[in-house]
Amino acid sequence: MPVPLDPQFRSALAERIRFYNELGIYDFYRQETAADRPSAEPSLQPEQREQMPLRSVAVEEEDLFAAPKPEATTTDPANALRLIREDLGDCTRCRLSKQGRKQIVFGVGNPQAELMFIGEAPGADEDEQGEPFVGRAGQLLNNMIKAMGLRREDVYIANIIKCRPPGNRTPERDECETCSPFLMRQISAIRPKVIVALGAVAAKTLLALNAPMSELRGHWYDFRGTKLAVTYHPAFLLRDPRQKGEAWKDLQMVMRELGLAVPKNT
Ligand code: URA
Repeated sequence: MPVPLDPQFRSALAERIRFYNELGIYDFYRQETAADRPSAEPSLQPEQREQMPLRSVAVEEEDLFAAPKPEATTTDPANALRLIREDLGDCTRCRLSKQGRKQIVFGVGNPQAELMFIGEAPGADEDEQGEPFVGRAGQLLNNMIKAMGLRREDVYIANIIKCRPPGNRTPERDECETCSPFLMRQISAIRPKVIVALGAVAAKTLLALNAPMSELRGHWYDFRGTKLAVTYHPAFLLRDPRQKGEAWKDLQMVMRELGLAVPKNT
């Protein structure tokens, strides 16, 4: 049986991570413990290990003294994004680089966007074209953006991870942990007014919370000083179009925050 994370511990951990973030520390590394070594506890199931309290989350000392990131040399968001992309290189930091990805899908849009959408991971179309949200889910996201009175090129779109997982499986936690520091740097470069997390993987990764979508939606979160809202992933809305009304409520909340006109009677 999976052991759920104690809610108090979970919220204390999220608080601690926010504290480090405020100090400008975004990269965390998990130290291996006896519980992580299968040979040490052969009876522990992977889901149990996954759910164990993160006693081992540690900020390594060298991180505190890490060299400034290349984009620290510029105040121009477009230039900063270019430097982050260069730093990412032809990334082989996780297994996805060897599991059939065609290309890295970095992100697309206005480097000075007020609104940023963050999805989960590239799919087959995105892997082919090197751009996030260009497949069927992307068409729906485009319609959502249009309904808000914006154009796709007004916003910035990225994913938690930048390489397509084989068979479009859900990204593994270590893949998210390895890749998301680059996304954090993209967010810091763009400094949007509002971030919209599309779906559970994006929401849970960004907020370090493990709650169902029904609980995550409908609230504002403070993400390192930026307002963050959660809504359904467009791919989910394609499967269950009845939830489009709920997603529209989320987007209206965002529109009000951005000072965009919300159509009456919707
Ligand atoms: N789904 C995502 O989460 N991201 C994409 O880029 C495409 C589909």
